[in-house]
Amino acid sequence: MSFQVHRPGPAMRDRTTLRLGGATRAEAVLRVDADLEHLPELLRREDAAPLVLGAGSNLLCRDGDLPLLLLGVDNQRTPKSRPGTDSVTVRLGAGIKLPVLLGWSARNGLSGLENLTGIPGTVGGAVAMNAGSYGTCMADLVRRVRLWTPENGLDWVDVDQCTFDYRFFAPPETVREPGSPYVVWEAELELTPSLPDKVRAAMRYTMTRKKAAQPVTAWSAGCVFKNPAGQSAGRMLDQAGLRGKRLGEMAFSSLHANFLINLGRGTAAQALELLEMGRARVYERFGVTLETEVKVLP
Ligand SMILES: Cc1cc2nc3c(=O)[nH]c(=O)nc-3n(C[C@H](O)[C@H](O)[C@H](O)COP(=O)(O)OP(=O)(O)OC[C@H]3O[C@@H](n4cnc5c(N)ncnc54)[C@H](O)[C@@H]3O)c2cc1C
Repeated sequence: MSFQVHRPGPAMRDRTTLRLGGATRAEAVLRVDADLEHLPELLRREDAAPLVLGAGSNLLCRDGDLPLLLLGVDNQRTPKSRPGTDSVTVRLGAGIKLPVLLGWSARNGLSGLENLTGIPGTVGGAVAMNAGSYGTCMADLVRRVRLWTPENGLDWVDVDQCTFDYRFFAPPETVREPGSPYVVWEAELELTPSLPDKVRAAMRYTMTRKKAAQPVTAWSAGCVFKNPAGQSAGRMLDQAGLRGKRLGEMAFSSLHANFLINLGRGTAAQALELLEMGRARVYERFGVTLETEVKVLP
């Protein structure tokens, strides 16, 4: 096998921005294409559910021992760009962190990603979540995805064959059976030529807006609930009295009620109780059932 498998794996609190979650069974980090050829054997051998892990910035993992096999993606490489007539196609490894990509696109005067400033995920996690902000989401920018699935191996798939929705992505059923794991290995984005200073200014503007409205430096996983159609989950939580609501060392942020934050020694049990409280109170007040955006594992 071309990569090492570490047993036991790390605690999820050390792999997630919300800093919650107990010990995993095993961890392997995939770095080169050839590593994926050994994945089926690893998946067969390990008695644990695979979790493809990016920056861990959208995960709420439970306390206690977790039957998870972590699959890290560390195929970071320098973005490769190919100029077209009036756009530039950029090929990226899924392990590249969005802040690194944004820095690169600003230096190279490429526009498109500015509204995603402040999202701490990887390219793979951003595709898998169809991450978005201020009206831009990954689906607007992605043209092709290089996907690995147990059924089809590693292959490029056009974006129009995939399903992208609000914070949702699914590979086509032609390459993956429902419920099977998949790895986003690379992505091609289409960006627009601009000027470095203009791109930088737009990114600074987005960051200023986010800092004013979100607890960007707290331990969190971003917004915990999806916005119901035409409504704001944060506003509903606020009006239902959840802003700043604390349980143990977990709390809904007093800056943005849809951010659940870990004040230091919070537990997943406290986090889940707060989520249930938020969901129940919003339902009582608005008759709307909030759906989690954060992935609750396992
Ligand atoms: C301060 C803060 C602000 C945030 N702001 C936003 C925001 O404005 N908009 C927004 O949409 N999100 C936001 N988020 C949430 C989060 O950053 C995004 O969802 C991000 O895209 C998750 O990427 P990740 O690499 O951390 O994925 P992870 O959290 O590691 O994983 C999330 C999901 O993606 C899957 N996944 C990860 N990598 C891959 C891969 N290579 N192949 C297949 N599946 C994969 C995982 O299995 C998991 O199901 C914020 C989070 C924080 C902490």
